[in-house]
Amino acid sequence: MSDVIKTDVLIIGAGPCGLFAAFELGLLDMKTHFVDILDKVGGQCAELYPEKPIYDIPGIPQVSGQGLTDALMEQIKPFHPTFHLGEMVETVEKIGDPAFRCTTDVGKVFECKVLVIAAGGGSFQPKRPPVPGIEAYEGTSVHYAVRKMETFRDKNVLIVGGGDSALDWTLNLHPLARRITLLHRRDDFRAAPHSVEQMRALVADGKMDLRLGQVTALSGAEGKLTGATVKGNDNNVSEIACDTMLPFFGLTMKLGPVANWGIALENNLVPVETSAFETNVPGIFAIGDINTYPGKIKLILCGFHEGALMSQKAHRYVYPEKRLVFQYTTSSSSLQKKLGVN
Ligand SMILES: Cc1cc2nc3c(=O)[nH]c(=O)nc-3n(C[C@H](O)[C@H](O)[C@H](O)COP(=O)(O)OP(=O)(O)OC[C@H]3O[C@@H](n4cnc5c(N)ncnc54)[C@H](O)[C@@H]3O)c2cc1C
Repeated sequence: MSDVIKTDVLIIGAGPCGLFAAFELGLLDMKTHFVDILDKVGGQCAELYPEKPIYDIPGIPQVSGQGLTDALMEQIKPFHPTFHLGEMVETVEKIGDPAFRCTTDVGKVFECKVLVIAAGGGSFQPKRPPVPGIEAYEGTSVHYAVRKMETFRDKNVLIVGGGDSALDWTLNLHPLARRITLLHRRDDFRAAPHSVEQMRALVADGKMDLRLGQVTALSGAEGKLTGATVKGNDNNVSEIACDTMLPFFGLTMKLGPVANWGIALENNLVPVETSAFETNVPGIFAIGDINTYPGKIKLILCGFHEGALMSQKAHRYVYPEKRLVFQYTTSSSSLQKKLGVN
């Protein structure tokens, strides 16, 4: 058990509400680790609308989704939270009163005194294209995300989709792969115009292929892909030789493993009381979009408030012997010292 990571608080989900909670916990001397299934922090703000302006963050008239994420990261810097990205918490086990052991899908084990579920709408999961038998190739030849570019060196890669992910990976993997074919339903792309121009230039130079149509079947054996059958926009059926397929059809949000952690659920949300946003399991809190209570509004500012109240109660579990004295950041030299401003 030497590899177990011990922390005061484990926060599941590095969306805006989880990030701000690390600030409130940090002010009260609680150490945090984060686990997030995405390969970046910021949750919906960074994943779904990084460039869109948000107008209802208190005191900030306008900030983009990514801008808010960057500002939150700057704000929590003094507390040095540790991020474990690209991992999903799969199991939660009660080991004390309270204390929890959480295991991720890559086998990392955490032990914490307090668990904060800030999992938003659940985990973002890739939309699977409607191709019969595709499951048999997933994880071996069909991938919904690029975790390590080297995996695709010298591969014959078929990238499917017309959005930013499809175009970005077409351009990024092009120098590494043996051959890239980009397949999209129509000759009209939702991706950034500059990326589309770069892709068209590569096609014009004969350095990659662009095909219009849809995958209808896959061929191969034992998880190893050898080709994809494609129905073109002209209704002609042809075969594209490939050993790797990367479909980028967007993401959906699924509650995922949260449903198996032994906490009460109500319509796929976690009911909490409203003095500390604690669940039915003492020591497990739920903040942000994942929770529900009378009057709940799914706004970032509500999640910030929830994080502040949660931290007060968490302090009692982490430091049962210590009395918590309420302090303002404006006037408390001890808080300012923690923030590195005094
Ligand atoms: C287009 C759009 C515009 C919006 N505009 C506004 C606005 O103007 N103002 C506003 O206040 N709100 C807005 N919202 C809503 C706002 O984005 C959400 O309220 C906010 O993101 C919720 O934050 P969160 O931290 O609770 O969850 P999320 O941002 O959803 O983050 C949750 C994180 O948890 C991770 N996760 C989930 N399950 C697991 C697991 N098992 N293991 C590991 N990680 C996990 C996810 O990958 C995700 O990163 C908007 C939303 C959208 C989609």
